Amino acid sequence: MLYSDAHLHVNPVVGLGAEKIARKFKREGGWFIAIVALPPYYYGFNDLSIESYKRVSELLAREASRVREQGLEVASFMGIHPAEIDEYYKRGVKGEKLYSLLSGVLKLIEENLKGGVIDGIGEVGRQHYTTSPERFVLSEIIMREALVLAKSLGAPVQLHLEQGGFATALSIRSLVDTLGLNAKHIILHHASSDTALWASNYGLPFTAPVKRLDEEYLKGIRVEYCMLESDFLDDPRRPGVSAYPWDIPVLVRELITRGAINEEIAYKVLVDNVVKYMNIKPP
Ligand SMILES: [Zn+2]
Ligand SMILES: [Zn+2]
Repeated sequence: MLYSDAHLHVNPVVGLGAEKIARKFKREGGWFIAIVALPPYYYGFNDLSIESYKRVSELLAREASRVREQGLEVASFMGIHPAEIDEYYKRGVKGEKLYSLLSGVLKLIEENLKGGVIDGIGEVGRQHYTTSPERFVLSEIIMREALVLAKSLGAPVQLHLEQGGFATALSIRSLVDTLGLNAKHIILHHASSDTALWASNYGLPFTAPVKRLDEEYLKGIRVEYCMLESDFLDDPRRPGVSAYPWDIPVLVRELITRGAINEEIAYKVLVDNVVKYMNIKPP
């Protein structure tokens, strides 16, 4: 079996970094990982400036090549996480000033996509926790603009959303249709069981957190839309907040042994869907 992790973070500053992660994952049967950039301040780039985001893109490009050197396929994603909007509001940068700065970041993301520095956009989306209506709507504006950008470049997008089941899936389906996007590139990341069910109903791809995938979760979904993620944070100061990429092979083997899935379904989730939804060349 070939294993993939469709959403994880790398932090070579405080954590393991891509090289060690890729080496260990490859040993466990891994063939592909999608690395998603963390906000600049996670890497110690504390200034709120385009320069900080440029340094993130450089770090991400370096980390992606480390993954390739280990013989794995990789896709790298860079975005503006909704939590970043909250962080900047807390620092006193808000409204128009913040929007114009983040528009510059979107421009940088566009250049990076065109130059092949990154492969997709993410995370963008909406807060999954309580925040102010103003921050929520600004996050949604950024998401919408990121989706328009993705459309013009044919790039995949990883969305971080509230886990609102029906309402979450309907809102994204409606954006996809209104903006004329290709649904196969719009990925609902970290989907709860209910959100995954409704994403399946609305024909939207999603990533299932390895900690949540079980018989119950599988019952409601259509596997042709499902990928698996660890959402590994690569931060030893926060152990246990997410799973490890190598938990994926362990879980998949367990599910096959228990008869919850067969090898054909596992292959679809871990290989076929990644190839299809993330523009990856097949192994
Ligand atoms: Zn997320
Ligand atoms: Zn994440």
